[in-house]
Amino acid sequence: MKLICQIFIINRLHSNLNIRCNGKYLKSTLALGQDPIVKNEYFLIHFSSVNKTGTKYRVKNIKQVFVKYLSEGKATLRFEEPPHDLCIKGETIQLKCFMRLLKSCVSGDTKERHLPNLSNISVTAKESVPTKLIINDRSEFPSKGLPRTLETLHIVGLKLCNFRREILLLKHLVVLDLSNNEIETIPAEFGRMPSLCELHLANNKLGVNEKIDWRWLFGPQLIKMLKLLDLSGNNLKYLPKCIWKLQKLITLKLDDNMLNQLPATLGRINSLRYLTISKNMLSSLPCSLLQCHLEYIDLSSNNFHHNNITSQLQRNLYKYYVGSLVHLSSEIVLRNKFFYASNLIPWTLVQFLDDANMCVCGAPVVNNKFYVNNKFELKDLFRVVVFDNNRNSTVDFKCYYCYKCCRR
Ligand SMILES: [Zn+2]
Repeated sequence: MKLICQIFIINRLHSNLNIRCNGKYLKSTLALGQDPIVKNEYFLIHFSSVNKTGTKYRVKNIKQVFVKYLSEGKATLRFEEPPHDLCIKGETIQLKCFMRLLKSCVSGDTKERHLPNLSNISVTAKESVPTKLIINDRSEFPSKGLPRTLETLHIVGLKLCNFRREILLLKHLVVLDLSNNEIETIPAEFGRMPSLCELHLANNKLGVNEKIDWRWLFGPQLIKMLKLLDLSGNNLKYLPKCIWKLQKLITLKLDDNMLNQLPATLGRINSLRYLTISKNMLSSLPCSLLQCHLEYIDLSSNNFHHNNITSQLQRNLYKYYVGSLVHLSSEIVLRNKFFYASNLIPWTLVQFLDDANMCVCGAPVVNNKFYVNNKFELKDLFRVVVFDNNRNSTVDFKCYYCYKCCRR
């Protein structure tokens, strides 16, 4: 039996000698067969792109088998001799079958099963599993469903109205491009995609419904992985406040929507470097962006010429504003990064803390009523600024201030 998988070999001798191995999973084939001469003698052969002749391991030299994460498609075989640990990643069902067969070889219970002779096994590391699929026409959908091994999937310009739920089964998917379709909603389970780093949803219809269910974007796995999010051309009128939870996000594209403001929490995404918001209706930016180390920002074709007037009354109110006890204590929780969760405090309070804004100095501010519009020159702040021609790039920032240092 052959298993097409990814394998990372740890030489325990090296780790005992403190030699660092540069850990990398390689596309591999693992073959299980029996010795043509000696009965009940089984072998594993490991082929990879860098080892085309293959390394032979005796099954009886297996010292330990780790299968705790078998349901996630991972297992480790520890050999006594050579002192290697084979860390295997593969398609769960295939890996389970393989491990079951291996178990029967170890226990000697292989009467029912036919194993090829070792000499008959021919394997090339080039045998590859499909990892990329581009679908440009509805007729190109594979009849057996999408291969579970896919890492890149493009389904572009098919006028799909519904999100295809079979995508949820692609546990290895890293890049998903569903641009130029007519998708209105995405199921909440999408937030559990474990490997997804790039999500292209440009030119769909996510914003057509008045109330958007954003749960799909804030699933426990997705928020830890997503690096690129393209929501251009979706008729979006607002963004969710908890967008800051995407703590790995580097690129955010929001061009060609109907946004008239950005969530004040946006700048809490420390990793954000590329932000494009051309062709919207923005007249100011949240002051939290002052804390972002953006390398590129595109703000062309917005409403920044609009004069945001902060009335004297507002300035005065702001001056004499004293936060409630909840406000003051919340800011202490946030500033000290105390852990909070809905099993410890009421969920309304969790939401209140989650929605916190940011002071111009970067400190958390929970007040979202009192702010002052102040002008900043974009070119002083960010490395590359794309802005309308013939207009100086001075823009209003909606500024919130913390009590500690910044109130004037
Ligand atoms: Zn401050």
